[in-house]
Amino acid sequence: MATFQGDLPDLTQPDLAQTKPPKGNGLASVYIETYGCQMNVYDSQAINGLLEDAGFDIVQHDLEADVILLNTCSVRDLAEHKIFSRVGDLRHRRTKTELPQPVIGVCGCMAERMGKDLRKGQRRVDLVVGVDNYDTLPDLLGKLTAKTISPHAHDERTVTGHRSDAHYVAPPSLYPVNNSHLVTIHKGCDYKCTYCIVPYTRGPQSEKSPEAIVAEIAGIVAGGGTEVTLLGQNVTAYNWQQDMDFAKLIEEVAEIDGLERIRFLTGHPTDMHPHLMDTIGRLDKVCPWLHVPVQSGSDRVLRRMKRLYNSTGYLEMVEYAHKVIPDVTFSTDFIVGFPGETEADFQDTLEMARKVKYDQAFCFKYSERPGVPAAKLDDDVPDEEKKRRLAELLAVQEETWNAAATACVGQVWTGVVEGPARHQDQRDKGPSWRLRTANNRKIIVHGGDFEVGAEFTARINGYKNTSFLGEIQD
Ligand code: SF4
Repeated sequence: MATFQGDLPDLTQPDLAQTKPPKGNGLASVYIETYGCQMNVYDSQAINGLLEDAGFDIVQHDLEADVILLNTCSVRDLAEHKIFSRVGDLRHRRTKTELPQPVIGVCGCMAERMGKDLRKGQRRVDLVVGVDNYDTLPDLLGKLTAKTISPHAHDERTVTGHRSDAHYVAPPSLYPVNNSHLVTIHKGCDYKCTYCIVPYTRGPQSEKSPEAIVAEIAGIVAGGGTEVTLLGQNVTAYNWQQDMDFAKLIEEVAEIDGLERIRFLTGHPTDMHPHLMDTIGRLDKVCPWLHVPVQSGSDRVLRRMKRLYNSTGYLEMVEYAHKVIPDVTFSTDFIVGFPGETEADFQDTLEMARKVKYDQAFCFKYSERPGVPAAKLDDDVPDEEKKRRLAELLAVQEETWNAAATACVGQVWTGVVEGPARHQDQRDKGPSWRLRTANNRKIIVHGGDFEVGAEFTARINGYKNTSFLGEIQD
């Protein structure tokens, strides 16, 4: 199971300094660390499956590994800087032990964006493998750990480039995340939003066949899974051979016996056609939660971002969704401080947040990405001003959420147990558990023993941050 940054062992604990050396059984031990979006979570699982099938040993801690793979993100500058310092940290941690230096490899979007440049300088890595070339990993790692590739073989150690045929399938047994199995339905993106690096790192849109998707989900259900999240940069743009669009695909997926819930991530406003929303509203298995990034409320900024819709069209989409999808909730992404964004533009963004009343809004300061069209624009909004706008937007979002959440107190909802709550802060009431409703709201309940995947009704007694507090109803 790939490990996230937060789960890292603390080296100051003496026992770790004596961690057992990597197994000498001829096949290397590999530690995978995942950064960024759900696509990377899925890809790390696929890498995990590929390497295990090839006989490699997947381990949970970097100090136990012969090979460390960092599956990276390039969506913002900060994400890449984190990786450079992480490489330094990993090498430094080894110097505090008797263990040999590991082979460090970079995968994911940064590998695709930077390629051989990651093999230069102080923080150079041993291997660079891009998003469409993970099937080369078993052979490459075998050679690297057997030291049959020269340290100077940059070409051999850097495998990047997009391949439309490269669709990886993550073995279903290894997870699910929040009780929901991720299933990628396509990769890449054909939109050209001017601030976005994804079309350059993930390549053009390329679909998995409906047969492959249905077979993958049938395998998950056969293994006991009941919920899937269909995943892609823009799942709503799915259109297999210009014949099967996303509405038809979810209709086909909803036919799978034993599958109870279908979620999807991420939608694009331009693809949220009325017939798709009608289909979502009609199919009980499709969860009424739409994550549709709006990015800005200003038509002028949306044009400069090449988002291909305007604020009126977006609001009409939201209004139509409320008409045809019962209990529908929305979440979104916002960027503040895009080049040329005026105070008036920003006020339009605040207005959008107030009008739509998002359950959740992921808000970011504009971060210039090398090589994207927006990089030619003057990044003229000062960082202090970006910070001020971000803080104000978050405040408006919180205010809007508090009002919406308060109005929900007293209601009774059905939710599915996802697992123990992150915060066990009411031990006097027994263990805390997290339930999730079909429209993607979290309910924290206390006491009792709950089985993951079981369904319960709960009365809403209050809320804390983005979670509701509930009491199980008999
Ligand atoms: S739709 Fe735009 S923002 Fe989203 S991945 Fe594609 S190019 Fe990037």
